[in-house]
Amino acid sequence: MTTAQTAAHQHMRTVWWQTANPAPDTQPLLNASKVDVAIIGAGFTGLTAALHLVRRGARVTILEAETIGSGASGLNAGFVVPNFAKADPTAVVGKLGGERGHRLLEMIGKGADRVYATIRENGIACDAEQVGWMHVAHSEKMLGILERRAEAWRALGRPVRMLDATEARRRASLRHNAGALIDDSGGTLHPLNYAYGLAGAAMNAGAVIHEGAAVQAVERSGNGWRLTSGKSTIDADTVLLCTNASDQGVARRLGRIVVPLRVYQIATAPLDTATARRISPDRNPVADTRANLFTFRLDRNNRLISGGMSMLPVGAEPRMARMIAGRLQAELGLQCLPVIESIWRGTAAMTTDFLPHVYEFGPRFIGGIGCNGRGIALTAMLGEVLADVASGAPLDALPIPQASPRALPFRSFAAAAPSVAIAQARWQDRRQGL
Ligand SMILES: Cc1cc2nc3c(=O)[nH]c(=O)nc-3n(C[C@H](O)[C@H](O)[C@H](O)COP(=O)(O)OP(=O)(O)OC[C@H]3O[C@@H](n4cnc5c(N)ncnc54)[C@H](O)[C@@H]3O)c2cc1C
Repeated sequence: MTTAQTAAHQHMRTVWWQTANPAPDTQPLLNASKVDVAIIGAGFTGLTAALHLVRRGARVTILEAETIGSGASGLNAGFVVPNFAKADPTAVVGKLGGERGHRLLEMIGKGADRVYATIRENGIACDAEQVGWMHVAHSEKMLGILERRAEAWRALGRPVRMLDATEARRRASLRHNAGALIDDSGGTLHPLNYAYGLAGAAMNAGAVIHEGAAVQAVERSGNGWRLTSGKSTIDADTVLLCTNASDQGVARRLGRIVVPLRVYQIATAPLDTATARRISPDRNPVADTRANLFTFRLDRNNRLISGGMSMLPVGAEPRMARMIAGRLQAELGLQCLPVIESIWRGTAAMTTDFLPHVYEFGPRFIGGIGCNGRGIALTAMLGEVLADVASGAPLDALPIPQASPRALPFRSFAAAAPSVAIAQARWQDRRQGL
């Protein structure tokens, strides 16, 4: 099975699919056509780029191999987090230099505000709650690191502050909670309904979306490009490749650049109101600072959403369901093991420097990737950057750095790296008695 088919199969097992609004109506791809911009992939990145472009007057078609949101955009946990999972602001400036580093940080920091503004402007019904994202320090040592991180984001004008242990414990009743960083611009949403809402807004503004239209080839044709999907073709001046970690057809060009990370997510049965209020009275989504990090949030019905990674794929689902349920019970002090209603998995795309990038595959044939586990806020900005490129912005003027589109060397070994990292993380946590 290809990555995209696996994703589509997983998609129907998610709590999001089971609680989704009606999917927007799209049209089958039948005839040859000519557009200004062809976008491959109807996840957050492609849909956001399309929305910007049609509002600027471009003729845009999106070709989606499966259905809207069937990739990571419909498989994620719905945490809206405007920062990097693995790179501190100081490290970003160290890597990119002062000017470029600050430009990227300023853009990333605004990602969550942009997501919620787009939701409000377009009236998207997706359980959006901008209640603040919490990063809980599991130890005093990590508290010091979070304090420096909060200071760096504050210096960039972001609404990031520290909560002392009492307030952090009131907001998140975690077993190990020494205090927390809170970014008030972060929050949660229903990811599939957000994708449906972006698609609806883009189509209302004039974009055309074709589902079940996997693109097999993109070839040079005159001054533009010809895309082939089954027996149909589309000619476009510009092509945006927004296929994330997929490896289907032309998506391999982007997929082979990143390290695929297999992530399991679960949704429990709804908690009773008293328990939900005790563990998360302000409904903040939470991640902690352990090497094998613990995350949780509530959905609109007070289901707990949490996740984890497995070292071995074989038999992983029942094992992960037991493991995540046990962790939720222990960390949140639940009286009994929570009942798991749904378990699914998805593939997150990690870049080797943990930063987002744009890639040039040919003249006006551009791809972008930026997930690293923070894709909801980040794709709101990446989509706009790709729209800027399609509108003629030079690549070296973008806030997201360009990188080489060469395949990762030794990619099959690189794909095993996450398993090694999980084993290390668990060992590190056990040494600290966690
Ligand atoms: C399990 C999991 C949990 C996550 N949790 C979070 C979270 O809580 N918060 C957060 O911010 N981020 C999270 N992420 C990351 C986030 O979901 C992604 O960064 C984001 O959805 C990427 O969006 P995208 O549009 O770039 O890619 P995708 O949503 O993957 O979309 C790519 C699309 O391209 C289509 N496609 C592929 N090949 C072709 C082809 N040849 N022709 C046509 N179409 C094609 C696919 O079918 C797919 O629909 C998580 C990721 C995973 C996997």
